[in-house]
Amino acid sequence: MHLEGGCACGALRYRLNAAPMIVHACHCRDCQRLTGSAFVINLWIEREFVEALRGVAKSCQLAGGTGQGHDVYFCGKCGTYLWSRYHGAPGDALFVRAGTLDDPKAVRPDVHIFTRSKLPWLDLPKGVPASRSFYKIQKVWSADSRERLRRNMSEKPGR
Ligand SMILES: [Zn+2]
Ligand SMILES: [Zn+2]
Repeated sequence: MHLEGGCACGALRYRLNAAPMIVHACHCRDCQRLTGSAFVINLWIEREFVEALRGVAKSCQLAGGTGQGHDVYFCGKCGTYLWSRYHGAPGDALFVRAGTLDDPKAVRPDVHIFTRSKLPWLDLPKGVPASRSFYKIQKVWSADSRERLRRNMSEKPGR
């Protein structure tokens, strides 16, 4: 899978050199604020597979819901948020916003999380796992993705 995407003004472009390990729809208040919308769609993918094609994203640090830091990366020109890095998440991975893909329908949420702050008019699709907060990776992820996460966690973060 080689998905490409970028910010609204085109100054930043990126390519994903693998499929995401998992796709989250996150309904937490932070994601609602950062997107200005009902929820965010995040592709959880190893950082090594996110290739910058053009431009360098700026970042700022917020307090994540877990109490550990959350870096958000955005275009310095137009302000589009492209991805996040959660200090509390296992491994060395980025959470890429599906809405910035050239083809956002190429992915769909595998799991809806933090539905305790889901907007009440939004009905979630039946048959897709949903959790009021986070969830157990063992229960939701495919065996392939769990193996990728295991490898990702064992590599030394290159930062
Ligand atoms: Zn931009
Ligand atoms: Zn969230």
